[in-house]
Formats: sequence, structure tokens, C-alpha cells
Amino acid sequence: MSRHVYLDHNASTPIHPEVVAEMLPYFSEIFGNPSSIHAFGREARDGVDRARERVARFLRVSPQEIVFTSGGTESDNFAVKGLAAARGKGHLITSKVEHHAVLRTCQALEAQGFDVAYVGVDEHGMVNPDDVRRAIRPDTIAISIMHANSEVGTIQPIAAIGRIAREHGIPLHVDAVQTLGKVPLDLDAFGVDVLSFSGHKIYGPKGVAALWIRKGTRMVAIQHGGEHERRRRAGTENVPGIVGLGKAVEVRARDMHAEAERVTALRDRLIDGVCARVPEVRLSGHPTQRLPGTASFLVRHVESESIVLGLDLKGIGVSAGSACTAGNIEPSHVLVAMGVPLDWAMGAVRCSLGRSTTAEDIDYVIECVEPLVRKLRQAMPVGAA
Ligand SMILES: *Cc1c(COP(=O)(O)O)cnc(C)c1O
Repeated sequence: MSRHVYLDHNASTPIHPEVVAEMLPYFSEIFGNPSSIHAFGREARDGVDRARERVARFLRVSPQEIVFTSGGTESDNFAVKGLAAARGKGHLITSKVEHHAVLRTCQALEAQGFDVAYVGVDEHGMVNPDDVRRAIRPDTIAISIMHANSEVGTIQPIAAIGRIAREHGIPLHVDAVQTLGKVPLDLDAFGVDVLSFSGHKIYGPKGVAALWIRKGTRMVAIQHGGEHERRRRAGTENVPGIVGLGKAVEVRARDMHAEAERVTALRDRLIDGVCARVPEVRLSGHPTQRLPGTASFLVRHVESESIVLGLDLKGIGVSAGSACTAGNIEPSHVLVAMGVPLDWAMGAVRCSLGRSTTAEDIDYVIECVEPLVRKLRQAMPVGAA
């Protein structure tokens, strides 16, 4: 068995060769501290500055508005805590389907005395902008809604939510880790004030990410130390990582449109193939407002983890939407918020495609899924769960 098919791009992506090439000198020859004023330092600083300009050009913003961080998780923490701390107290609005980096940050803020409203979603995982409007209170200080959900791929109506935030003068943070470089992003049209994105979801390195903070947005730093990043995020810069992130964004700008089209066609081939071949399977997430490469399935009366492990034996990497802990099946918070019944949620499996995915990969996965699900259902008769 030598075939390997990676369909877990929403978890992480392989670094693009052009990105690796750009990073390499920064591990060896160009090693100075960007804060040093000598030539060694200046060379490293130039790499960081160029990366900042590349990211800013892509987003059509000013380079001074970009802050580099250690990952999407830090960007989300910084955004939510930074907006909250700048206001001291009050009420925040988020959704029930956010990444844990936002959800658990909000829970931590609740423990500190902030109030948080967790807006629900419909059966497709979509937030209703009117629910956001209804959740607004006189003391609402920030709204944080993700652009696209990593599990089911649903793209949220950010422009409508942004308009509501603007009308009320409330800053809007958007976790765009799953969308930057995959679908168009217009910060002004969307009415966004703070945007998170991460390197390793877009063929860049792990452990590096950024936050865009619209000029004039009141935010306080959550990490203190030196004067780095205009005193917004202390710590010696991850120079090779930042250089890689800048290059990854530049490559996305060049490739994203053609790739989105190609990946969407493959995704639909997978959806059609699986739904035609496997009985009692459904697509989860929004039927049309979804990420180009994400296909999440609900396979009734089968355990997610059994499918993931069964496909792993065939060299296929996908991810589970439900976990089996101490004999209990626990669907992800996203599926719970969508109200997916347990007999369907127990078999949630996410396939996320990327730039190296081929039609042969998709056909191979379809070939493998059908007999696997049949076998698993025979081993675990309906209702036994
Ligand atoms: C992956 C992910 C994150 C976290 O980013 P890391 O760089 O892995 O810390 C945050 N939000 C979403 C939507 C993600 O998919």
C-alpha cells in the first residue's frame, strides 16, 4: 500500500516549495536580530519588512496595521482579549461555532467578569445577522465572528454582520484563518476592524500568523516586553516564519482564483461520488456558501473515528467530527450547535482538499469509502450505538 491521499488541508497544509526556498537563507546566513542596528540585524529586518509589505498589499491595507504573532490561536487571543481589555468591562458577542481559540478565550473573559452572548446557527451552520443585531446591548464592546468554519466549511455573512457592527460603532473581529487566500476578502466592504490569519493553513509554516488591526481601533497588547511590532506584540520576531508567511500570502494572491475553481470541481466530484455510492450519507454545512475545498459528511450509524482509522489504513488522511470518549460519542460543538441528531453526528467526517489533490485521489477515496462504511455497519448494527 503506497498510495497517500491527504484530505486534511483544513488542519494543516504542506509548505509550498517557493515558500521553503524563500525561508531557507533566514535559518543560516541571515540570522541577525531584527532589532539590532548593525548590518546583520538590518538584513533580518528587511526580510520582516518585505513580508509585512506583501501581506499588506494582499489585504490592501497599510503595513503598519499588520502585527505578526505565533499562530492563529495567538492572533485570536490577542484580538478578543485586546479589544476587551482596551474597554475594561462590558459585553461581547460571538457565535457557538467559532474555533476554540475564540470560544475558550471568551469563556476566560467571562471568568474575569465580561458578559458574552454566544449566537446560535441554523442547520447549515450559518449565523443569522439579525441574531447578532438582537444580541447587541448598550454595553456591547466587541463582536467576533469567524469567516468560514473549519469543520463544515460554511461561510458566514460577514458583510451583513459588519454593517450591523458599524451601525452600532462596535469593533468586529473576524477569524479568517480558513478563508484568507482561499476566497476573496474585502475588509472595507465587510466592515472588519481586526482580522486573524495563520501561515500553516495557507501553505506557509506553522507557528507564525498575523493580525490586521484597522488604524484607530483601540486594542491593548496581551504580551509585554520589548518594543517589537510597534509595542503591540513583544518578542523577537520569528524571522524565517514571517518571511515564509509573507511569501505564502504572495503565492496565494497569484494562485487562489485558479485553484479555487479546480478544488471546487474536485470537491463536488467527491460529494457526488460519496453521496451516490454510500447509503444514508449527507453533506453537512451550507450547500452553496462553503469553502472551495471542504466536504464534510454525516455517515449515519457509523462512528467517525472508525471511518478515519479505516481510511488511514488505505493511506487516506481525513478528520473526525465526533470523538468517542469513555464509550460516549461526543459530536463537535459545531455539529451540536447545528442541531445534527446524534445518529448522524456520530459519523461526521471532514475531507478538506488542497492544491495537490487530484481527480485520481478523489476517485480512490470514493472507491475506499463505500466498502469501508458497509463493513463498519455490518460490524455495528443500527441502533447499537
Ligand atoms: C487552525 C485554525 C485556528 C488556529 O490557528 P493555529 O495557527 O493552528 O493556532 C484558528 N481558527 C481557525 C478557523 C482555524 O482553522
